[in-house]
Amino acid sequence: MITTDIDDFSQPKRPYILIVEDSPTTLAVISSHLADHVDIISASNGEQAWELIQQDHDIKLVLTDIVMPGMNGHQLLVKIRKSGDPRIANLPVFMMTTGVDITDKHLAFLNGVSDFLTKPVDPVELQARINVHHNLARTILELEESRNTLKLLATTDPLTKLYNRRVFFEEGEKAIFTTLRYKTDLSLILLDIDYFKKVNDSYGHHAGDIVLVKVSQLLSSLVRHVDIVARVGGEEFCLLLPGTNRLGAAVLAERIRKTIEAATTSVDEHIIKISISAGLVTASSENCDKFEDLVKIADKRLYLAKDSGRNRICVSNDGKSDYS
Ligand code: GH3
Ligand code: MG
Ligand code: MG
Ligand code: MG
Repeated sequence: MITTDIDDFSQPKRPYILIVEDSPTTLAVISSHLADHVDIISASNGEQAWELIQQDHDIKLVLTDIVMPGMNGHQLLVKIRKSGDPRIANLPVFMMTTGVDITDKHLAFLNGVSDFLTKPVDPVELQARINVHHNLARTILELEESRNTLKLLATTDPLTKLYNRRVFFEEGEKAIFTTLRYKTDLSLILLDIDYFKKVNDSYGHHAGDIVLVKVSQLLSSLVRHVDIVARVGGEEFCLLLPGTNRLGAAVLAERIRKTIEAATTSVDEHIIKISISAGLVTASSENCDKFEDLVKIADKRLYLAKDSGRNRICVSNDGKSDYS
């Protein structure tokens, strides 16, 4: 195995490439062509290469021979492209072969090879092609990272990491469509922390933030993975519960109310206790076909719950807190 160290951190990182080649002579020749420009790790067959690719997250490009004992270059390429890990699936892969068999070339491109070279390889050309693909892969990765960051910023609340109001309404519109189309259940719980202003006033805004995060974690831990939990306002949260009927939603709301009432949040030397009030609505019970109308009903019930003393769930327009 041939490796060269990178110690000079003032220089931009050189490409770190995996050469897969069963012939020690060819490996030595290619390594000598590249040693001044790239850092090299090597494997003598597909299996060994696959192990290295999974373990060594720094590998940025694979240069593989086709004919090797065990897993050949084509099989290795397919394994890479089919990987569920985007780091592996998007690796630039070069194939090189001595023969001029056009079928190999076609197969390689069909399987998603990045470049194809015929041995003996021209060192200058090889180096240039490696640079092109290495830079391209880096740019794609950077774009992907900024896309993910933008998506996260656009869909989640930075403090609690819950979905934001926009996602909540988008998901709600989709959910009500499914509910009406397939006659399934859809419930919604809108909840608000009681006297939250007092938490801020007594313990400071930072303590208030910690309480909001704690409530978010409790909510997330109590719902099913198909449910959507969103922070829709300062200290207001909404749970979208597809496939949950009125009784199921009421049981969950009551569990949430009790859990939050029993929970404590320690901030500095203080132990903070809070409660929540909630309004609950189920689409099928309301003959409601617009999501925003469903939210309005939940909102009305939330305020009925506040008016009738807080720390309670309201499930009907007359302020009832039992669901029978
Ligand atoms: P009620 O029981 O009627 O809901 O009373 P309340 O005090 O909870 O309601 P009010 O609307 O009077 O106050 C909400 C407070 O929530 C005021 C606002 O400063 C605070 N708040 C909103 N967003 C945040 C936040 O991100 N962090 C913190 N710490 N406080 C927030
Ligand atoms: Mg070979
Ligand atoms: Mg409040
Ligand atoms: Mg509020």
